[in-house]
Amino acid sequence: MGEMRKKLRKQYFTWVSICIALVGCSGTHPTIEQAPKQLAPNHALPAPPNPNRLSAEAYSEDLVESRHFYTGPPHKPIDASSGKTAFLTFDDGPSDSTRKILRILKNYGIKATFFVVGSDTNEGRTLYREIAADGHALGNHTFSHDYNRIYRSPEAFMKDVHKLDQLLEETVGYRPDILRFPGGSNNHLSWKPGGRGIMSRVAQVVKAEGYQYFDWNVSSTDAAAPVQERDMIIDSVVSASRGKKSIIVLMHDSTYKTTTLEALPVVIGKLQSAGFHFDTLNRSSFTFQFMTP
Ligand SMILES: [Zn+2]
Repeated sequence: MGEMRKKLRKQYFTWVSICIALVGCSGTHPTIEQAPKQLAPNHALPAPPNPNRLSAEAYSEDLVESRHFYTGPPHKPIDASSGKTAFLTFDDGPSDSTRKILRILKNYGIKATFFVVGSDTNEGRTLYREIAADGHALGNHTFSHDYNRIYRSPEAFMKDVHKLDQLLEETVGYRPDILRFPGGSNNHLSWKPGGRGIMSRVAQVVKAEGYQYFDWNVSSTDAAAPVQERDMIIDSVVSASRGKKSIIVLMHDSTYKTTTLEALPVVIGKLQSAGFHFDTLNRSSFTFQFMTP
């Protein structure tokens, strides 16, 4: 009996010390912020100092788990098969164009990613739901999209992001873990409110909180003019996607971007002819970042 109790106590202390080790030294381990420059899937995070205690995989899962709050649909495993993938992205919605975009995407049977901003009206809430119900990915593009507000400090940025997270959780039932910075990660408009280097500081906090952020490697140029020429949008996407295997295409979901809607079916058709299939972005998918902190 005494032997048994001793054994149990020993097991108990072993477990307690493992728990203390896991929790207690999280500050000294490599953190997400110190991860390799090119963001990689979770399993590529640096291994803990003592690999015998816990595998690198379990460690990084534990690390991400502690900061990560994504509760949305399960992410698909990364498709390692060859082939070309196009990630269409629509920024700044929802808008009067949202349903038209959804209709076109549905006609072609393809999925895209919507980096939305805050729209706390019945119509806005309904549109978030329609985007999600159609199987597209929702990403955070900040609630206000107001450069002077969000780029004042990392804290101000995260406050705005969390505000949209809250609204999305109320409407579609989950908080996205993917994000696009208004203006992209290398924008200079942030310098005025936040000073040089603000984007790097903001990006560090974004990553530490478990988000992945996405810029683009193909611009539709639909933001280069108030109403860009339809053919310019088509030509820009086609020429910028040439020779690339994975493309993140920047487009806008905006009431006034009528030529984006006109160009969209042609863009999809031309990308399909060039051998691309379409997918939604998620935390572990291909990313393209102008700047890594
Ligand atoms: Zn935007």
